[in-house]
Amino acid sequence: MSSNKEKVPSDFIRVIINEDLKNNKNDGRVHTRFPPEPNGSLHIGHAKSICLNYGIADQYKGKFNLRFDDTNPSKEETQYVESIIEDVRWLGADWEDRLFYASDYYGQLYDFAVQLIKDGKAYVDDLNQEEIREYRGTLTEPGKESPYRNRSVEENLDLFERMRQGEFEDGARVLRAKIDMASGNLNMRDPAIYRIKHASHHRTGDKWCVYPMYDFTHCLSDSIEGITHSICSLEFEDHRPLYDWFLDQLTVHHPQQIEFARLNLNYNILSKRKLLQLVEEKHVNGWDDPRLLTVSGLRRRGYTPASIRDFCERIGVAKRDSVVDIALLEHCLREHLNKIAMRVMAVLKPLKVVIDNYPDEQVEELEAINNPEDEDAGSRMVPFSNVIYIERGDFLEDPPKKFFRLSPGREVRLKHAYYITCDRVVKDEATGEVTELHCTYDPESRGGGTPDGRRVKGTLHWVSAEHAIKAEVRIYNNLFATEDAQEGGDFRANINPDSLERLTSCMVEPSLKEAKPGSRYQFLRHGYFCVDPDSNNDGLVFNRTVSLRDSWAKIEKAQKK
Ligand code: ATP
Ligand code: MG
Repeated sequence: MSSNKEKVPSDFIRVIINEDLKNNKNDGRVHTRFPPEPNGSLHIGHAKSICLNYGIADQYKGKFNLRFDDTNPSKEETQYVESIIEDVRWLGADWEDRLFYASDYYGQLYDFAVQLIKDGKAYVDDLNQEEIREYRGTLTEPGKESPYRNRSVEENLDLFERMRQGEFEDGARVLRAKIDMASGNLNMRDPAIYRIKHASHHRTGDKWCVYPMYDFTHCLSDSIEGITHSICSLEFEDHRPLYDWFLDQLTVHHPQQIEFARLNLNYNILSKRKLLQLVEEKHVNGWDDPRLLTVSGLRRRGYTPASIRDFCERIGVAKRDSVVDIALLEHCLREHLNKIAMRVMAVLKPLKVVIDNYPDEQVEELEAINNPEDEDAGSRMVPFSNVIYIERGDFLEDPPKKFFRLSPGREVRLKHAYYITCDRVVKDEATGEVTELHCTYDPESRGGGTPDGRRVKGTLHWVSAEHAIKAEVRIYNNLFATEDAQEGGDFRANINPDSLERLTSCMVEPSLKEAKPGSRYQFLRHGYFCVDPDSNNDGLVFNRTVSLRDSWAKIEKAQKK
């Protein structure tokens, strides 16, 4: 992943790792992981974490695990496990044979809990959830100790075993760590470590009716796997003392937790809970809707894994939260697509043009370069005939001064073809709408120039009407109309009503006939487009991946001035 040797990223996390390596901590091993909860699809924030964790393992010739922290039986689904595996692989992170599940450790975790009880560091509490909350205290007031806190080890062992045997109802009892009810850190006020939940788990089925809490599971799973650097986002900073406590009490391998700031992007939300809401309430068409910054949405939209990795490298990692401009993500994408995407011609809003002096039955195959940025991409032949489509917006009957495209009496160049001049405009009598143009071509101008060297300012793309393929093109805009998607409190109120525009009578050049879902192209003068999986025998469907206009380059230029 970090193939670019000259610019190995340097950040505070790598500074820590370099120091650890110098001191031969962990015997010089570097072992990271990505630990998703399988309760939703991954988004670009997760991609940042994946790129960081895998990038570090790769750079230091260490190891990288993919582990599902599947501690919550009711919210987790196999469907998410599968989509997460697909997404991590697509991003290019390689866990080799180290795909793990915290649920595989349930036996070990149970034993750890028993050990804590035996050491007098955990107890079974009979208070109910609400009482526990009341006893917990607040940020300004210390908590109160539960009346069950000083049960004997024997009684605790007996009750915990009976919890596991299924003797009690959900919520009747919990196992809590015995730490400090007066701690300034609420996480340290005797947190629950096991709860009763009579629910089927997607992997362990009905084997268990007690489940370990996330905090207990997460840090100990890292320990079991021999993770050296547990990299996570800032909201876990307050949990670190608790993780350290578990690891120290149990005297097990102690990974070092390092926190970094989460990724946020303007005009978007990155929270699984809110993304789920958008999906369930049908504000979007599923997790892979191309308007979402989910990994599956980005893939469907036409993003390349390399452009996402490039973006993650450029934003780097920091200790403080910030909002990244979506224009930077698009800039990274454009840079990559510019190098790899084949240029083709597609007319999104067609206007018919008849070339009166071009022989009726004649068809010429004209050579078109596939990608001027890539010599190896070669060229293809594009058919030309006497009836073509041009873009409706490329003609104006009464053009303003700076309009260099087609208008009555004006000559333009057709890309890869001839010069044409507009002679006559045909209109719908009822509506006044322009329905057809009549033009003449200059046979001497084939390939884009004339013997007399006369200049034309405009160059238009076009398709031959007889040969073109009809297609649908979906144009996406930001899903949220406000830069801060949460502005005003309810993100749903900020949804942009114009986030999707469907153009259903587009005409694309015939070379696209066999285009497969996922293929990416530059439609000349329009932007980058990707074939959507909705394409079928009835027609091609394209997603606009990104326009050609690079607002980030503009922002950068302005900053340099
Ligand atoms: P969300 O808050 O979006 O629901 P999550 O943190 O609950 O996400 P997990 O499956 O627990 O989702 O996340 C797995 C890993 O990805 C965690 O280590 C988490 O810190 C990291 N992560 C989640 N969101 C972001 C983000 N926006 N930026 C960077 N890392 C993130
Ligand atoms: Mg989480």
